[in-house]
Amino acid sequence: MIDTPKHAALRQRLAEELKRKGISSEQTLNAFRQVPRHLFMNVSFEPFAYNDSAYPIGAEQTISQPSTVALQTELLNPQPKERILEIGTGSGYQTAILVQCGAMVYTIERIKELFLNAQATLNQLGYKALCKYGDGHNGWSEIAPFDKIIVTAGAEELPQKLLDQCKIGGTIVIPLKRGDALTMVRLTKKGEQEFSQEDFGPCAFVPMLKGIQ
Ligand code: SAH
Repeated sequence: MIDTPKHAALRQRLAEELKRKGISSEQTLNAFRQVPRHLFMNVSFEPFAYNDSAYPIGAEQTISQPSTVALQTELLNPQPKERILEIGTGSGYQTAILVQCGAMVYTIERIKELFLNAQATLNQLGYKALCKYGDGHNGWSEIAPFDKIIVTAGAEELPQKLLDQCKIGGTIVIPLKRGDALTMVRLTKKGEQEFSQEDFGPCAFVPMLKGIQ
């Protein structure tokens, strides 16, 4: 598959749709105008790549819905040169969006097949991110602390190591279990053990699981 002016036009349209749905960060919208989502998906889904929907990427996982990726990116507000840890590489699309924003991205995936695919795609397209195969609950101690952390799978509870590996003043965006549903949560680290929390409504994600596969 290649990127064509037709795909670029579809990206423009997707960015307009995201704007209508409440995304206001120009930085986030610009990243969506640039990153070729269809190249992070199986060829059979190419006609749908710029719809605002999630699609299968193998191993029973999905590429997140664009409006969800956009919300998480807007909440994270990535800045050039910031060190960002992502848990749940999946297709690598959210990774590429963060790299497009200028961040230094470190991303962890627990399913070998997806880790290998995403690493290859990011490399091929020239998105410089460091990919790791492992359980994101452990974070990435060799590289910590991080300015910001984004989790793209639904967590039962806040993973302690991720809280520890965030810098004071840093941000964590994570879909968190509340009763039967997931809520999008943004934490700001105020002190070693002190966090403030904001909620941004219900969201849908595959679960954050323990161990590797
Ligand atoms: N941002 C990705 C989202 C993929 S879905 C995209 O848009 O493509 C979430 C991913 O999180 C899945 O690939 C799943 O395997 C991964 N995941 C779930 N639990 C994990 C864990 N503990 N550590 C690392 N990755 C995990």
